[in-house]
Amino acid sequence: MKNDSRRSFLKKSLIGVSGAALLPGTIHNANAIPVTPSYSSDLPTRILGKTGLNVPIISMGVEGASAAGFIKAAYDNGIRMFFSATYYGEGNNEKLLADAVRDLPRETLIIGSAVIPKGVDHRGGIFTGESTYEAQIKTAEESLKRFGMDYLDFMLLPYAAKRESIFFEPLLRAMEDLKKQGKTRYVGIATHSFQNEAIKAAADTKIYDVVMPGYNFRNDNIQEMNDAITYAVKAGVGIIGMKAQAGAYWDQERTQPVNSDAALKWVLQNKNVSTVVSGMTNFSELQKNIALIKGNLKLTDEEMKDLKLASNEIAPGLYCRQCRQCMVQCAQKLDIPTIMRSFMYAYGYCNLEHARYTLDNTCISSIPCMECSQCEVTCSAGFDIRSKIMDISRLRDVPMDFLKA
Ligand code: SF4
Ligand code: SF4
Repeated sequence: MKNDSRRSFLKKSLIGVSGAALLPGTIHNANAIPVTPSYSSDLPTRILGKTGLNVPIISMGVEGASAAGFIKAAYDNGIRMFFSATYYGEGNNEKLLADAVRDLPRETLIIGSAVIPKGVDHRGGIFTGESTYEAQIKTAEESLKRFGMDYLDFMLLPYAAKRESIFFEPLLRAMEDLKKQGKTRYVGIATHSFQNEAIKAAADTKIYDVVMPGYNFRNDNIQEMNDAITYAVKAGVGIIGMKAQAGAYWDQERTQPVNSDAALKWVLQNKNVSTVVSGMTNFSELQKNIALIKGNLKLTDEEMKDLKLASNEIAPGLYCRQCRQCMVQCAQKLDIPTIMRSFMYAYGYCNLEHARYTLDNTCISSIPCMECSQCEVTCSAGFDIRSKIMDISRLRDVPMDFLKA
């Protein structure tokens, strides 16, 4: 942010702080970051934990956006919180978001990015020795450079999983210092695996301000997850939901879409979820979501039926619950949950680049299941694991350049 606009931001913040700034728990020690953003939106809002930010209940994950104008349209429609990640499009997605908001008043935006650590053991749900303090700070600083901003509002630690990953000292210290140094206003974690453990551990650190879990109608043991969320919320942690659409389709051929309105409503039934990050990709999706959240969020009987709630119907869909029951059964101890996420990105969300990136993280050989004469792995969601692995593995043979959006 340029000095002049920064000075004006400071001035405005001092004169016109929103009520959120007066809430307990909003004092933070970031160097020279203004007290609170100053924005308005005509969308329904909820308070995001101890940040005190009153955020629209829908936010935008920009990984599926291919044009700056589309992100700007989301802003024009009242969305104020935007998320990217350092690894989306090898940093180009952050640049796209920066381009989209370049001419908008910084104080009216809430910008976040997931800062990926260098070493992740997805199978074990922990970080490895390559994830040093210095590397994490460097990655965060490179992200700021791509954004062309002095600070972000949120820096998230992605792939947080087991409790020990949340308390992994080099990263915890790095994330805390990024906040202290004024490079981010708030810090949080994003999690797909061991989610309940991760959510509670994040609250126990007393350092993280927010948690972004995959939260949708297909989650396993939803009561346990809701309890973990309640635990975190009581500790002041704000909850930002993601993966609301649970794979977006019930079938690989994409002939049976998930009822997206119902899926979004389902997440927002839980008042502990302050906002849902939606990976919208086109204008009609944007407008549909905006109209939805302005209306009645109560699920109808028909919508409940569409989500196949309270039914015994077996419908595997494309969403892997990340329950990890399959891993111990696999002869090669493959990281099946991560491979299944890759499958969902490819077939559900049509994001081949992200699917490939996720697949590469599993370090599988090019055709991992070929060495097994038969597969006895069973899946709690009813997936045909071997066939899905064989299918998605083909992506490894496609040069990355062909997969870029
Ligand atoms: S076929 Fe694939 S999923 Fe099944 S046991 Fe072998 S490596 Fe594991
Ligand atoms: S058993 Fe099925 S749902 Fe559970 S992690 Fe494995 S693939 Fe995913």
